[in-house]
Amino acid sequence: MNRVGLGYDVHQLKTGRPLILGGVEIPHDTGLDGHSDADVLMHAICDAVLGALGEGDIGSFFPPSDPQWKDAPSKIFLEEAARQITARNGRLINVDAMLIAEAPKIAPHVAAMKANIAAALGVSPNDIGIKATTNETMGFVGRGEGMAAHAVASVELPN
Ligand code: MG
Repeated sequence: MNRVGLGYDVHQLKTGRPLILGGVEIPHDTGLDGHSDADVLMHAICDAVLGALGEGDIGSFFPPSDPQWKDAPSKIFLEEAARQITARNGRLINVDAMLIAEAPKIAPHVAAMKANIAAALGVSPNDIGIKATTNETMGFVGRGEGMAAHAVASVELPN
């Protein structure tokens, strides 16, 4: 049985925060704000995987009210999503994600992001798609106030 899931996330950009995307710290004058490391890309992917399982979202596993997740590396969320697949004797087939960010340039970091995400999910980097686009200067993304990410995941589960 093949299942698909959808994930979406958005975080504000603030000065004084590191910019961490796909587990890669990228030099930039602002960084994503949030309770964890605010890795918007990993969060969207996590929700896509959990959605394919019919599970609740990332916040139901890691409540933002819980201080132990403050500044936590978001790979632990992906590792939990992978555990949820394993617990069902399932297999992650692929993930595809789209980051929407006005700056900085993402392409130089995509290979490292794929490696980090694949390692956390226990799959090959070839099973992870990462693309990025700007918002053509429009809206909150275009003004550099935040970043957004969309993701889909396909999971095979036993019948
Ligand atoms: Mg988030």
